[in-house]
Amino acid sequence: MATREGSLEAPTRHPLDWCNPDFLDEASLFKEMERVFDICHGCRRCVSLCQSFPTLFDLVDESSTQEVDGVAKLDYWKVVDHCYLCDLCYMTKCPYVPPHAWNLDFPHLMLRAKVFKFKQGDTKLRDRILTSTDTVGRLAGIPVVAQVVNAVNKIKPVRKMMESVAEIHADAWLPEFHSKPLRSRLERESGAEAVPAGRTSGKVALFATCYMNRNEPGIGEDFAAVFEHNGIPVTLAEKERCCGMPKLELGDLDAVIAAKEVNIPQLAKLVDAGWDLTALIPSCVLMFKQELPLMFPDDPDVLKVKAAFFDPFEYLMLRHKEGQLKTDFKTGLGKVSYHAACHQRVQNIGQKTREVLALVPGTEIDVIERCSGHDGTYAVKKESHAAAMKIVKPVVGRVQQAKADHYGSDCAMAGHHIENAMKDGRAPEHPMTLLRKAYGI
Ligand code: SF4
Ligand code: SF4
Repeated sequence: MATREGSLEAPTRHPLDWCNPDFLDEASLFKEMERVFDICHGCRRCVSLCQSFPTLFDLVDESSTQEVDGVAKLDYWKVVDHCYLCDLCYMTKCPYVPPHAWNLDFPHLMLRAKVFKFKQGDTKLRDRILTSTDTVGRLAGIPVVAQVVNAVNKIKPVRKMMESVAEIHADAWLPEFHSKPLRSRLERESGAEAVPAGRTSGKVALFATCYMNRNEPGIGEDFAAVFEHNGIPVTLAEKERCCGMPKLELGDLDAVIAAKEVNIPQLAKLVDAGWDLTALIPSCVLMFKQELPLMFPDDPDVLKVKAAFFDPFEYLMLRHKEGQLKTDFKTGLGKVSYHAACHQRVQNIGQKTREVLALVPGTEIDVIERCSGHDGTYAVKKESHAAAMKIVKPVVGRVQQAKADHYGSDCAMAGHHIENAMKDGRAPEHPMTLLRKAYGI
């Protein structure tokens, strides 16, 4: 029987086969990369998504055979290094994902290659530090140290020096650090007054995330204000580590497992006590909703946490459907240029942020569904900053064209990357901050 072109069926994501000894077998990995690269070369649908695909297609076109067999195996790493596991190729473009017989999962293949590379010890110290978000936040968030770090990060000659010594691009946006973290700003509620509705228990434990905890705690406070205004008690886990996404993107599975071993028991305990779970960074939500369940498909606590984890706007819309969202908005937002983050888009929940903001009278939303290219570290690294600025350019064009009153992204880092490329003095605003503004609370 001839193989079908494309597939009309819903994609099936197979678990990550990381326990199979074949996963780290070099010959098997390169054989699979050659097979998949050859299919991609014949397809080329993903050329505009990121820098991985143009890199691959240029390598093929410039090779002696103009086929994948003419590309040097060492050059495969150039393709791998440009992938930041946004998942868009798998979720939005590829017709050959399972159940199609070609069984193509480009992001998971890139992840396998990154794990192989990490195990070989072929990882820069800079990347190990940049992805240690817990430790960096804890050290840089020490009182006085935070002020010094924030001040130093704005001095151009120092940034130039950091670029030559630490390979952190001098023009990249770097986050500020706060010495009073989000986790010490929020009270732990008992949740006694919760009103269940539909799939929601009506009380929510916030996974603070390293970024919101140390870099933009104000967004977490906006979240608590909005949820409490809607009668939803908010609490925090007793202990929290990084969700593991930065280490996953580095290929450091041991660090992902170590973070999982702290976070999952804490979160599972909260679920047992009736709390739903959420986080304000789409990548962290995706980690609990998709990446950990694909790594640990048989772990009941991982699956329990997955089932209770919601995107925050998904949660508000579920409550709205049950008549449990207040619409006593005081202020219209005018025109909002809203960037939908890739890791939220691939959650398959629809445009929940847009739907919630659209409930505010006097508000018009322009949705931008294009990758910003930030990825937490990709836009910061010396060697990939230029590519990240190229990827964000069409997003910036859309924000400028919209002439909106506000702009922002579910991913606060993407918002700042847009700001850095736009350079018009306007700061991004997180959709949760905008919602709080609309409520006038
Ligand atoms: S997962 Fe994202 S970054 Fe990686 S190849 Fe696919 S589209 Fe590009
Ligand atoms: S990942 Fe799929 S859609 Fe994208 S270029 Fe490869 S085969 Fe085509």
